[in-house]
Amino acid sequence: GATIGVLALQGDVREHLQTLEACGVRAVPVRRERELRGLDGLVLPGGESTTMSRLLEVFELTEPLRRALNDGLPAYGSCAGMILLASRILDTRDDATHLDALDITVRRNAFGRQVESFETDLQCAGITTGDAPLRAVFIRAPWVEQAGPQVQVLARVGDGPAAGRIVAVRQSDVLATSFHPEVTGDLRVHRYFVDLVQGRRKKEG
Ligand code: GLN
Repeated sequence: GATIGVLALQGDVREHLQTLEACGVRAVPVRRERELRGLDGLVLPGGESTTMSRLLEVFELTEPLRRALNDGLPAYGSCAGMILLASRILDTRDDATHLDALDITVRRNAFGRQVESFETDLQCAGITTGDAPLRAVFIRAPWVEQAGPQVQVLARVGDGPAAGRIVAVRQSDVLATSFHPEVTGDLRVHRYFVDLVQGRRKKEG
């Protein structure tokens, strides 16, 4: 079966490990370059993106991760993980590094100007199609301010002051959500990622 890593420098690592295990794959924490070897996919959890980017430097993981993503390692970033995967970040520290794996511009703490945290029901293309909406939990979340032509928009906020804002995207085998499915017990977003990882394993034989 597939093995999926969870970047374990900071943030809600345990929740992602548990959710992945509940989806029936082997889930392992990743802190070292060598632990990237043999992974079929990688989750970048929520937390604090500037702290994580500093720790990526400290653990000498920035370049190895960039290479792995560039070589096609499937990845899923939630919240701070979305920020790390992005190509362009607004409202961040100038020295914060990122991984450049998704052609999106994200705005950090974008909803925070109105409220720190909130929940809403979302329709998510390919994930909730013909099914109940997702309960999406946003915690000092970013939104996607601009998405490049190769990026598929999976979800937008439905109503309220942030209506229309993009909060879930996919580009090839890289997935990102502004919200935190790992805290809800709903497995559908992780299952979607696991399916993507397994589809790729099959393609590669
Ligand atoms: N505000 C955090 C950041 O900018 C993200 C919050 C989260 O991951 N829940 O990194």
